[in-house]
Amino acid sequence: MCGIVGYVGQQEAAPILLDGLRRLEYRGYDSAGIAVCGDGQLRVKKSRGRLQVLSDLTHDGADLPGHLGIGHTRWATHGEPNDINAHPHVSQSGRIAVVHNGIIENYMELREELLRKGYRFESETDTEVIVHLIEMYYAGDFRKAVMKASSRLVGSYALGIVCTDAPDTVLAVREASPLILGVGIGENFFASDVTALVAHTRNVIYLEDGELAELTPDSIQVYDCSGHPITKKASR
Ligand code: GLU
Repeated sequence: MCGIVGYVGQQEAAPILLDGLRRLEYRGYDSAGIAVCGDGQLRVKKSRGRLQVLSDLTHDGADLPGHLGIGHTRWATHGEPNDINAHPHVSQSGRIAVVHNGIIENYMELREELLRKGYRFESETDTEVIVHLIEMYYAGDFRKAVMKASSRLVGSYALGIVCTDAPDTVLAVREASPLILGVGIGENFFASDVTALVAHTRNVIYLEDGELAELTPDSIQVYDCSGHPITKKASR
């Protein structure tokens, strides 16, 4: 196990992401990382080892200004625990970042397809295919690209995704891996586990397999696997 967290709102994202990851530490991990969007830029820091290493590296998040982001603690399944294999993984354009818990079973075929199309891989992870697939399908509609990429994946995944072209939006996708949305006021969250959310909100929405959530500071919209919007109730 391991964890993912996401934030969009008025506050600085990085300290909230680091705090959320700290609350997920009990799940076990070998590396950690965060990506924050601010001023049209994507800033990423990741590192092998304890979360404290990442906190120190980022001056408790102060080095990554911005109001939305994603975070990850990794339990390596594909590729050794090192800085390069740590998440987030970033697309070649530098615009899209992904965190992933789980295993992509068909990553070898996807990797070969992407290599043939000219994508370069930096890591040994199964996860990296996801970010390149999203970029391959991206033609201006961030959500559609993520939906299309997800439809190609076989395996288990909880994903958090950001794109510099969508500076108010964080996407979360779930398939056979836990993911919970936290509903705030002027801010919204997601995490693998409710323990990462309790400091911020008690209103939560449980994502089901195949669902995608689009979070902005003031809204949460969930879509089914065909892209149709669905209404879900928050529970306390
Ligand atoms: N399979 C991915 C990797 O090895 C994600 C592992 C995880 O769930 O942290 O990087």
